[in-house]
Formats: sequence, C-alpha cells, structure tokens
Amino acid sequence: MITSLTALTDIVVVGSANADLVTTVARRPAAGETVLGSDLRVSPGGKGANQAVAAARLGAGVAFLGAVGDDEHGQLLLESMRSAGVRTEHVRTPDRPTGIAHITVTPDGENSIVVSPGANGTLTTADIDRAASVIAISTVVLVSLEVPMPAALRAIELARAAGVRTVLNLSPPGPLTADALAALDPLIVNEHEAGWLLGAETTSADGPALAEALLALGPRSVVVTLGGRGAVVATPDCVSTVAAPRVSPVDTTGAGDAFTGALAARLSAGDELLAAARFAVHAAAISVTRPGAQPSYPTRGEVRA
Ligand code: ATP
Repeated sequence: MITSLTALTDIVVVGSANADLVTTVARRPAAGETVLGSDLRVSPGGKGANQAVAAARLGAGVAFLGAVGDDEHGQLLLESMRSAGVRTEHVRTPDRPTGIAHITVTPDGENSIVVSPGANGTLTTADIDRAASVIAISTVVLVSLEVPMPAALRAIELARAAGVRTVLNLSPPGPLTADALAALDPLIVNEHEAGWLLGAETTSADGPALAEALLALGPRSVVVTLGGRGAVVATPDCVSTVAAPRVSPVDTTGAGDAFTGALAARLSAGDELLAAARFAVHAAAISVTRPGAQPSYPTRGEVRA
C-alpha cells in the first residue's frame, strides 16, 4: 500500500488551472477599437495544470494541488488532467469561476494575454496544509506563481521541512523570501523573469552570466530557459549550456511548462539536473511543433525516439 501511494505521488504540482480562450486576429485593436477575429478555441491551460500534464505524460505520478470553478471550464481542466493520469483529489472547487486566459494571437505568432484568476486566486495556505501528507511523501514539489504568493510560499516551506526537493518556476515574477530562494533546486526562469529578479544590471548579460548572477541570490541551482536557444543550467560546481533541438515551431504556447514539467519528471526519476534539462529541451521542442499547450505535450516514448 505504501509503495503504491509513493509511486502515485512522485510530484506534487502547486499552481494554476486556466481555460485558454484563444482568438486569432489580423492585428490587435487599439484602445476603444473593435476588430473581428477567428472562431474561439477553448483549451485546457494554466501554468500548474500544464506542468502537471507534461510530467504525467512522461510517466511521473503527479498530484495537482489547485482550484477550479464548478463550471464547464473546470470540467475541461479536470478531464484533461485525469486523462493524462494526474491525480485531482486535492483540487478545491470554490464558489468562483474557473480561471481564464484571454489569448489574442496575431499572424506573426505573437500573443497577448489577459488572465482572470477566478478560482486560482482563492488558493490558501490552509489548502496547502491539507495536502501536507502528500507533499511529505513526494519526491519533488513543483510550484509556479499564478496562485497567491502565501500559498506558493507555504508549499515551499512544507517541502523544505519534509526534505522534499523543491522546484519553482518563477512565473509570473513575484518577490520571494530569502528562505524560499534558498530551498530551490532549481529556480527556473526565462530571460524576462531573470531580468526582473536581477534588475537593470543584466540588460546585456548572456544566458550563462544570468544563471550565475541568479545563483548568487541563494538558490541551490538555477535553470534559465532561452526559447529556441535552449537553456542554461547552473549549480555551485558548474554552468552548462543545453542547446535546443532545431525544429520548425508551429505554436510555442506552453513551451516553458513542457520544459518545466519534463524537468521535474526526470528529477523525480533520479536524474541529475543537467541530464534532466537535456531531456526537457527535447520534450519542449516536440511541444512547439504541435498546436496548443497540454495537447502538444509528448509521451516518454516520443521524447526517447
Ligand atoms: P512560454 O511562456 O512560451 O511557455 P517561456 O518563456 O516560459 O515559454 P522559453 O524560454 O520561451 O520559456 O521556452 C522554454 C523551453 O522551450 C526552451 O528552453 C526550449 O527548450 C523550448 N523551446 C521554446 N521555443 C523553442 C523553439 N523555437 N525551438 C525549440 N525549442 C524551443
């Protein structure tokens, strides 16, 4: 019994679940203007749910800790997570609508996004405390920040107290305590988030310099993702660049979550950080060759192939 419980909870993901409402437009409207767009596409998203699905597709036992509304979008998200094998018994259903990301995509591939947090904004430290026993038997706790900061910090605190490896994707960027930073192994950021953490001194820094500067802030290790250029991994011993495979991207939505979920999956399986990052760039590269976020995430067999 204990073995199977442990096997089911390699990773506890704490984060958001949003319905992505995507419309393609020829150009963005100016203030006060109306433009016509494509038919609306609705798909499951949100950083936490994306990362949970990415890790579960790769074979990790994942439990998702978050909140969705008692509505159609909430059902869509629960079904997407369950069909990927993610455990959802720690998902709370408050009296608020499911979070929504209004995404506008232009022909150049650029997107602009307005997030309405809805149920995600109700996640509390008490919700995290209720899942303390699952956190304590997991191998990795993976946190992102589209949920209230006190809940995210509590998850990091509980993981640290239980000696569980803690991975934070600092997205969207938000202020961290020194204690939380010191627990991270790794802190994962993209270049924009790295710049936010480090301030103006980094405007011209390259990936390895960014990663080294971030490591000096106190986390145990750092990963900086660099889009089509791959990622940089920094530990106190060494800074390594991991190139992304060359692909023709179709849709990069959720690529960062594909990378983060894959990295957590391999860390929970016992890989070293650099090996996990080498695997994660392949999983993320496959995801950008397919449309959407969660529907684009590969299985382990697809990445190995
Ligand atoms: P997003 O917000 O789009 O989910 P992000 O800004 O968090 O992404 P990125 O650094 O853009 O993160 O991408 C994450 C990872 O996805 C990269 O480290 C890389 O491995 C992979 N990736 C992204 N874009 C490409 C691409 N064009 N070709 C190959 N791999 C890519």
